[in-house]
Order: sequence, then C-alpha cells, then structure tokens
Amino acid sequence: MLLKITILPGDGIGPEVTDEGVRVLESVAEVFGHQLSLSRKDVGGAAVQSSRDPLPKDTLLACQASHAVLLGAVGGTAFDNLSADLRPEKGLLRLRQELGVFANLRPAVCLTALEDCSPLRAEIVRGTNLLIVRELLGGIYFGERSIQGPKGNRTATDTMKYGEPEIERIARVAFELAKSRRRKVTSVDKANVLDCSRLWRQVVTSVSRDFSEIELQHMYVDSAAMALVSHPATFDVVLTENMFGDILSDQAGGVVGSLGMLASTSIGGPVALYEPVHGSAPDIAGRSIANPLGSILSVAMMLRHSFGLQTEAASVESSVATVLAAGHRTNDLAKPGQRPLSTQEMGRKVAEAVKEHAKLPGQLSAD
Ligand code: NAD
Repeated sequence: MLLKITILPGDGIGPEVTDEGVRVLESVAEVFGHQLSLSRKDVGGAAVQSSRDPLPKDTLLACQASHAVLLGAVGGTAFDNLSADLRPEKGLLRLRQELGVFANLRPAVCLTALEDCSPLRAEIVRGTNLLIVRELLGGIYFGERSIQGPKGNRTATDTMKYGEPEIERIARVAFELAKSRRRKVTSVDKANVLDCSRLWRQVVTSVSRDFSEIELQHMYVDSAAMALVSHPATFDVVLTENMFGDILSDQAGGVVGSLGMLASTSIGGPVALYEPVHGSAPDIAGRSIANPLGSILSVAMMLRHSFGLQTEAASVESSVATVLAAGHRTNDLAKPGQRPLSTQEMGRKVAEAVKEHAKLPGQLSAD
C-alpha cells in the first residue's frame, strides 16, 4: 500500500521524537512491503522562523493532500513574546481547524512493564486502560478573547462557547468507541457552575438514549481529577470538552508513568492528525533524552485508523511492549542508577523489534 504522509516535526523535542516515529514507520514499511511517500514541512516556531507564519500555506496544502499527518510538537520560550497570530500554538490550532479534526482521542494505558514507573502504587495504577475523547475545535481555546484597559488596571476575557451540534458530534464519537471497549462513558464537565457544561450534560444525556448498551456517568472535572489518581482503572471512555481534556490527559500521562508515553489521533475530517500528547519540552530539547514512544505509538494509531493496517499497528504496539519488558528505559522512565537509552537508541530498539516480531510465524498475514 502507498502511505502518503506529511511529517511536521515542529519545535523543541518535536523533531527528535518524530525522527524515531518515522524510523519505526520505515521499519514497518520494509517488513510489510508498503511504500512510503513522506513530505516534511515546517509548523509552529520552525515555520515562523522560515516564513513568518506558524502554518504556512505550503504546509497546509501538503497536509490536505496526504493520507495522514504526523506532528511532533510546537512552541518554546523563544516564541513567547510573539504577537498572538504568530505564536506557534496558533499554527497548531489553525491546522486542527483547517483539517476539521474535532475529536481528539488520547489513550492512556498502564503497560505491565511500567507499573512501577507511576508515582502511584502499582495496585492503584494496574489495569488502567482509558481513552480520553476530547472535543478539539470549540470551547475556550477558540472563543473570543481580549485584554483591555490601561496598564495596571487591565481586564482579560476568554470566552467558552459550545453549540449543541458540536457537543452532539463529539458525544457520538465517544459512545461509538465505547461499544468496542468496556461500554462505559464518563462525561466530564463543570455543570454545577458553567452554562456550557449544563448544555453539555443535557446533550450528552440525550445522545446516550441512542446507546442503551453503554453506561453513562457524569462527573465534575474537579472530582474526575481526584478519581483519576485514586482509582484510574475504573475509567473507560472519558468524554470532555477541549480544555478539561487537555488538562486531564497530561494528568493521565503522569498516572501511567510518563507524559512521554501518550499518543493521540485527531479525527473528524478527511485527513487525520497524529501527535504525541506532550509539548515541545524546551527543558530537555536538543539533549537526545526525550521519550519517543508517544510519537511511535501515534504511528501505530495512524497505521490502524488511517490505513486499516491492524497487523502492522499491533506489531508496533507489541514491539514497544517487548522493548519495555526487556527493561529498556528512556530518562523519564529510568530507575535511579540505571543507564537510560537515548531517544535514538529507544527508536532503534523498537524498529529492530518490529523486524524481529515479523519473523515470528503468522505475523505477516494482512488483516
Ligand atoms: P511539555 O509537555 O512540553 O512538558 C512537560 C514536562 O514533561 C516537561 O518536564 C518535559 O520535559 C516533560 N516531557 C514532555 N514530553 C516528554 C518526553 N517525550 N520525554 C520525556 N519528558 C517529556 O509541556 P510544557 O512544558 O508545559 O510546554 C512546553 C511548550 O510546549 C510550550 O510552548 C507549550 O505551549 C507547548 N505545548 C505544545 C503542545 C503541542 O504541540 N501539541 C502541547 C502542549 C504544550
């Protein structure tokens, strides 16, 4: 199969982890006989530096013309003083909007080999396997905003706005996904305070009537944050709005051992976007110590969701599990005294494991 993919490394650790995602993709292509057509483009701060635009037209056109997009991360302290339109994050928000990807799926799974990497006790984190379904194109990140008044007496406003169709379409995604999981949706809101959340709760309840086989639970976001650390394994699908989903998914990353482990896909338009959940991590950028597994697992999600390549996706996921089970760790997961692997060493280990995995009987049959 021809896999036409736009690669957007971005800023900070973005290029480092994306290179490893691509390395594993190349290994999959070699082993399973696929053809890759990769086009690398700038986004975020890198694009501001090259063309004074965090989402150049050329980048957007390449994304729209491909089958899938793999992004690293955007942002960094060097760009903090740019005007709002030039900020790297603006490029990413515009890209999501242009691609129409309203549903951001963020799985957080506690792998057996990483049970002792969580700051929580192993018996609490064991069995955690949740999927955050985050609304991605609405809410406070896209509402009107302003700062007004004279210095010393300024007022800042951000607006959170949700329409019923926006809530309904994301709720339907969550309920559909729950069908092939443990059939439970926890809808997270702040309906005791916010009108947006009261509408959210009403619409989600109404959608749930079409999915009688799925259990629906409503939870306030503060309570959900507590439950996520006290009994994370009880969650299945977590359905929530843009900002709450952003915050809870970083927390989920901490719960399962490292934010560096989390992958994501954003769907809803003709071309899906795949990216690790973490940001550009300026504190560790350029040191080859970032964990590339979030990017590599995003590649697995791409193989499954954009190309329907179930065997290939499973091969990447089981290769990651094998490498971790053998005790290999990047700096974020390493025990005191353990020599961590570099970003590139971890990428190479997984790429080799994909090749080894393919030698096992029955592994090359396509689904
Ligand atoms: P961050 O996710 O970049 O980093 C948070 C912490 O996690 C840091 O200590 C970092 O070192 C660590 N970390 C993150 N990814 C890691 C990895 N793969 N391996 C090991 N450790 C990892 O969040 P931040 O520090 O709040 O933000 C930094 C920049 O990233 C900001 O400019 C922010 O706007 C941007 N950001 C971008 C995205 C994105 O591109 N999707 C998402 C979040 C933040």
